[in-house]
Amino acid sequence: MSPAPLGNRDLMRAHNRSIILNAIKSHGDISRAEIARLTGLSPATVSAITAELIAENLVLEHAEGDSSGGRPPILLRLNPGGGFVVGIKVTEWHLIGALTDLTATVIAKQSSDLPALSLDDVLEGVVNMVSHLTRVGGVRKKQLLGVGLGLAGVVDGNRGVLKYSPTFGWRDIPLRDLLQARLRVPVYVDNDVNTLTLSEKWFGTARTVENFLVVTLGRGVGMGIVVQGQIYRGHGGGAGEFGHIVVDPQGPVCACGGRGCLETLVADPGLLRQAQEAWQRGELSAPVTKIEDLVALAEAGDESARHIFARAGDVLGVQIANLINVFDPAMVIIGGEGTRNGEWMFAPMRQAIARHVMPGLRNGTEIRIDPWGDDAWARGAASLVLGELFKSPIQREAIAGSVG
Ligand SMILES: [Zn+2]
Repeated sequence: MSPAPLGNRDLMRAHNRSIILNAIKSHGDISRAEIARLTGLSPATVSAITAELIAENLVLEHAEGDSSGGRPPILLRLNPGGGFVVGIKVTEWHLIGALTDLTATVIAKQSSDLPALSLDDVLEGVVNMVSHLTRVGGVRKKQLLGVGLGLAGVVDGNRGVLKYSPTFGWRDIPLRDLLQARLRVPVYVDNDVNTLTLSEKWFGTARTVENFLVVTLGRGVGMGIVVQGQIYRGHGGGAGEFGHIVVDPQGPVCACGGRGCLETLVADPGLLRQAQEAWQRGELSAPVTKIEDLVALAEAGDESARHIFARAGDVLGVQIANLINVFDPAMVIIGGEGTRNGEWMFAPMRQAIARHVMPGLRNGTEIRIDPWGDDAWARGAASLVLGELFKSPIQREAIAGSVG
């Protein structure tokens, strides 16, 4: 048996601290009395812990707000400048990075090309990007709480090991340790879709719900699953390969080697393939080489382009309805570059969802299309570090306990 890292009393205090920090993050300007009421903690506990958070610069005190004649109440809020993190998304061609404050607000961003896809190039690129972003953002080394890295593939987030990535052709790379040795700050590594899902949970539209799904569209189709406030990773860390559920066993060959996976029908390469076929059949009014062209054709009234998006939307909607039937989530958030396909795809998707969700589960799930920003992936990776700050030690221990 390994010794418990914290005694019961310390554990309880750290847990209460996380509850209070989260109450302040979620509610913004809030009084100590209101925190006590919301959390059910005693005023003495709230007062002791908030004093600690203020001393650590994580929380700010200010006197304003709704005063009914008497002394204005002292309100608390998160101190955005209490710490900074860098988040970096690694793709096969470049690194996209952002420096954010404690509230996940982007202070500086950078994107740089990768000369080649060797491990050394990636490590060096990450180190250079961290030093560039902190310099531009005017952040001192000791204000940097950590660096988060998101990339496609199966990642063991607990050990920070990239187990397998078809994009990079890498296996069992201890990215966290390799980078920590160079950067000398805590480094967290996770699958890119999970980092995006975490940022929705901590800072995005899913802050108030416990069960939700994030579906990403773009070059492929990804999924993040949050069950009772926790990311569900599966037995080996590979859960959420929504893009590879088989829709048509006789369908087009997929990058995974299978046939007729969902992403061959609804992700960018699949849509472009369908556009090419339509052009060869003489149905499309102009040839297209990128998705933006196809969207422009649909907008200009090209029936064939509209049909391609509508059919993809329908296929996607049926599969999302299947997910809703399995998970009964409060929310399904659609994100990723593919959201630029717009209502040509998402109107038919919503209709298919409405048609195929089983009675009794209908209307229970909110469908949100997230407006896409190019720094969303980097911000997601930054949330990987920020999330650690807000996590209860009980959640942390549960994760540590699951490592062999
Ligand atoms: Zn596949």
